[in-house]
Amino acid sequence: MESPVLGIPAYFLVAYLVAAVLFIIGLMRLSSPATARKGNLLAATGMLIAIVVTLLLKEVLNYTMILIGIAIGGAIGGVVARIVKMTAMPQMVAIYNGFGGGASLLIAVAVFFSLGKGLTLEDSITIVITVLIGAVTFSGSMIAFGKLQGLVKARPITYPLQNISNLVIFLAILGMMVYLVVTAGSIPIFIILIAVTLVLGVLLVIPIGGADMPVVISLLNSYSGLAGAAAGFVLGNMFLIISGALVGAAGFILTRIMCKAMHRSIGNVIFGAFGAVATGAVAGVEGERIVREATAEDVATLIGYAKSVIFVPGYGLASAQAQHQVAELASILEKRGTDVKYAIHPVAGRMPGHMNVLLAEANVPYDKLYDLDDINADFERTDVAVVIGANDVTNPVARNVPDSPLYGMPILNVDKTKSVVIIKRSLSPGFAGIDNPLFYMEKTMMFFRDGKQALIQIIDEIKNI
Ligand code: NDP
Repeated sequence: MESPVLGIPAYFLVAYLVAAVLFIIGLMRLSSPATARKGNLLAATGMLIAIVVTLLLKEVLNYTMILIGIAIGGAIGGVVARIVKMTAMPQMVAIYNGFGGGASLLIAVAVFFSLGKGLTLEDSITIVITVLIGAVTFSGSMIAFGKLQGLVKARPITYPLQNISNLVIFLAILGMMVYLVVTAGSIPIFIILIAVTLVLGVLLVIPIGGADMPVVISLLNSYSGLAGAAAGFVLGNMFLIISGALVGAAGFILTRIMCKAMHRSIGNVIFGAFGAVATGAVAGVEGERIVREATAEDVATLIGYAKSVIFVPGYGLASAQAQHQVAELASILEKRGTDVKYAIHPVAGRMPGHMNVLLAEANVPYDKLYDLDDINADFERTDVAVVIGANDVTNPVARNVPDSPLYGMPILNVDKTKSVVIIKRSLSPGFAGIDNPLFYMEKTMMFFRDGKQALIQIIDEIKNI
């Protein structure tokens, strides 16, 4: 039975509907760590149904090419998912976002050339919109990947009249899009449009860096969904439109959550590029810079007799894979009667929810994890804050150094605690590349060690006191 909708048989539409419902329920379940695994499975089942049903459409002509594509893509995806480290997840997400945008761009290019002179007004509009979103997502995500992977300078790259020149380029792109729609296609202009939109993607991401990277990644994730939805319009595929719109909306909601957590507006992240980071003297550090180095025994004695301890995990905890050791130390302290909490900053680590996932792996109960807003007032009442591989998310310059790339980002009030222990390997800065005045405070003890080794030594020492 043919449906009146796009000439697709009715049972295909029912299957698409079931897949879309599975997607939505899956997304809902992803909102809690307790149900996230099942949510992922449901959404994946929805995608499998949609792919199988789409492959049965009579428009599909070449199964050999599709099967080769599935085999190569599936093999690469399977291997990468197994070998990629948790700390490299943002790079992986960035590159996948980029491939999503790139795939949509290629669909638009293929349809443009295959329809040739037969392009309708509707085709032209959907194609140029897909080129714009797909190309910006592709090249922007590649730059984000390069920044996170350390291949491109992570700090913001700025130059005079940056926003104005980007605006001029955007207006030129709009002009070309209108021209292509009105003239029903001009191959040279179409190729120039692709090149310029790719350049715009690069230019939009290079001025963003430091603490704003998580926001950019979630925004590019949203763009990749929109690019998919746009490609759905080009192909007249309803499921691609629905799934793209869901990814676009979910990415946008995540972007808003991250912006809210960072006290920044989206416009401020995209257009508010900060200048080069101040070098030389440490911004925000006045007077002498004295570092107080501690041993495992010093730290064990301090926290062993403390009434309250807050652990502050960061990227270094993930990098050292020290989640099990911190959970073990916490449970030893709790048995000694210490009040133990974990302070979770929204951008700690290298992906949203990174610390939650890591600590859940070590079976740390969810009710021990406190979000920034729920714990910040507790620091001044707490005896010791133990910072493990966290740096930017504790850096007080975010409060008081206006020309710092971290300025305005809410931080964990570690500096308000009675005593601070910082576990890291050196005085090196964190992701944003800025020194941290917390290291030189009188109440701070620096324990220079790999996170896992440090915690193992502290656990050994604490058993003796
Ligand atoms: P930071 O990157 O600020 O600092 C991490 C610290 O961990 C480093 O100073 C490093 O110091 C230390 N470290 C690294 N390896 C080890 C190890 N094996 N053992 C002990 N310490 C180690 O991390 P934060 O979590 O504080 O902040 C996250 C930063 O990443 C923010 O700027 C955020 O904007 C950015 N970001 C976050 C994303 C997200 O979604 N969460 C995504 C992209 C970027 P040393 O070398 O001396 O050991």
